[in-house]
Amino acid sequence: MAVSKDDLRDLFAGTLAWDKTKEIISGPKDDDRFEAVLELLQEQVRWPERILLPLREHLYIVESGGSRIVKCDCGHEFGDWRRNWKMSAAIIARDDIASMEEIYPGLRRPDPNLCEIREFICPGCGVLLDVESVPVGYPVVFDALPDIDVFYDDWLGRPLEDHQDCEDRTAEIISKWAKPLL
Ligand SMILES: [Zn+2]
Repeated sequence: MAVSKDDLRDLFAGTLAWDKTKEIISGPKDDDRFEAVLELLQEQVRWPERILLPLREHLYIVESGGSRIVKCDCGHEFGDWRRNWKMSAAIIARDDIASMEEIYPGLRRPDPNLCEIREFICPGCGVLLDVESVPVGYPVVFDALPDIDVFYDDWLGRPLEDHQDCEDRTAEIISKWAKPLL
């Protein structure tokens, strides 16, 4: 079904009436829906880099000087999309009773011996980007590493100018934190 740009804008803003929202969600998608969404998102951000893929609310994978990076809608850049952006975010780790009580008071509070709650915040604008609740010491979860070239080549049928290997490079960040052994 064809969806108007105004309806798409309201859908993203969360202000579209439910009956219309349900109709869009349930209906077959028009072939150019992805392009229409990209065009809308590109109009809404205040920077010029081309959006290749929306990653999650506030975050996009964009083309920037031959690199593909994760960028917040405020303009803050998290670096190469193959490196988990969470490792470059400001992080609040709630791993004790006092900090957990701030959001889960009383009986609702999880046991800090079993789990920790991590809040990932954009260093540029302070928006809360993601929250994960994981067992104590669990590695930071890499939610999505989309293969952009497969998507553009095989799904959209319009390849990008260059191809870049899709591989997890998060360890590059961690290795910079490690002290030299010498
Ligand atoms: Zn931001």
